[in-house]
Amino acid sequence: MDFQLTEQQRLLRLAVREFAEGEIGPHVMEWDEAQHFPGELVPKLAELGLMGIQIPEAYGGAGMSAIDYCICIEELARIDPSIALSVAAHNGLCVAHIYMFGTEEQKQKYVVPLARGDKIGAWGLTEPTAGSDAGGTRTTAVQDGSSWVLNGSKTFTTHGRVGDVIVVMAVTDRAQGHRGISAFIVERGTPGMSPGKKENKLGMRASDTSEVVLQDCRVGADHLLGKEGQGFANALEVLDAGRIGIAALAVGLAQGAYEAARRYALQREQFGQAIASFQAIRWKLVDSATCIEAARLLTYQAACLKDCGLRVTRESAMAKLFSSEAAVRVAEEGVQIHGGYGFVKDYPAEKFFRDSKLCTIGEGTSEIQRLVIARELLRA
Ligand SMILES: Cc1cc2nc3c(=O)[nH]c(=O)nc-3n(C[C@H](O)[C@H](O)[C@H](O)COP(=O)(O)OP(=O)(O)OC[C@H]3O[C@@H](n4cnc5c(N)ncnc54)[C@H](O)[C@@H]3O)c2cc1C
Repeated sequence: MDFQLTEQQRLLRLAVREFAEGEIGPHVMEWDEAQHFPGELVPKLAELGLMGIQIPEAYGGAGMSAIDYCICIEELARIDPSIALSVAAHNGLCVAHIYMFGTEEQKQKYVVPLARGDKIGAWGLTEPTAGSDAGGTRTTAVQDGSSWVLNGSKTFTTHGRVGDVIVVMAVTDRAQGHRGISAFIVERGTPGMSPGKKENKLGMRASDTSEVVLQDCRVGADHLLGKEGQGFANALEVLDAGRIGIAALAVGLAQGAYEAARRYALQREQFGQAIASFQAIRWKLVDSATCIEAARLLTYQAACLKDCGLRVTRESAMAKLFSSEAAVRVAEEGVQIHGGYGFVKDYPAEKFFRDSKLCTIGEGTSEIQRLVIARELLRA
């Protein structure tokens, strides 16, 4: 067991940190207030390999490990969790699904441009009436000659408006329940597919989230992703790995919130001394820093096991559950340490606080992580 990052990983952290501080940092509040997804940032993310982090170089990616992936997501989230969410959804959901289950032809056609950052990916599982119970998908795909016709709607889709390629889960055989759900690749501009309502969100406001409407949307047989009827099972496998990304996002967010609180506690004086000298404030910082270390270890453990090719259902759910709840606590303490200044937008504390809540909801709520972990623990 080795708890040290390699020299290459330390350099990677430094590179992504410098990029995030220099290219993202100055715009965080402007993008948040305008709910602006910075498409202009994508070529720069791609230059660093962040649009195809774990995809082999042969498919246009950076060929990095799951631990490297965590480092990248953490460093983006430390500065702007919205950008980290967009990068995680693109990499961990859309690109990962096509890379894991696509044919060689689909990988060449979709993974290569997505991993190079020429295209942005989206992934639609959630529907208005099928959230935690994603098996209750209502969107349908009906075979018609050599094509499939999709009808329905997806909600809360990251990049629903700006995505070029969206992976959509749809029912192909209702009688088969979960085993009757299949995945399809739909390209932007396909007649019948249109973006719906853009969500006006509490946090993660620079990440595009919207509805996707499918109305007699016809795609060719070569758009079926994976085997017919395997879409739901494949989506769960994608989520097993994807959750490591959300755990890393929560760790990075908590780190950013903690660093801001530490800085403020050292500089703010009350009763003639820095508030960092009060035990009540010190303990908040201590508890936050300790939680972040524990969350990071759980996250890296899940990533390390994934790199070894092991099944990580339990470990990724534990990492996601613990890290996301830790992020909410750390961000809240960050606001408390800032006092009234934590409640206004002049300091980063309030944004971390707003953004943190998504971590306990996206890619499965905390309650669903507990269900997954319980199932794993009580498995006969
Ligand atoms: C910013 C953002 C981005 C997102 N991006 C995507 C995306 O790119 N693609 C995508 O497919 N989805 C995406 N989602 C959707 C997200 O995954 C869902 O919101 C989430 O899975 C919860 O579903 P729901 O909102 O329908 O809540 P519900 O399932 O309605 O849950 C409501 C409450 O009930 C609880 N609950 C539900 N079932 C149980 C149970 N069996 N036991 C105990 N408690 C339960 C939940 O934990 C929650 O507290 C995104 C969401 C947001 C907010």
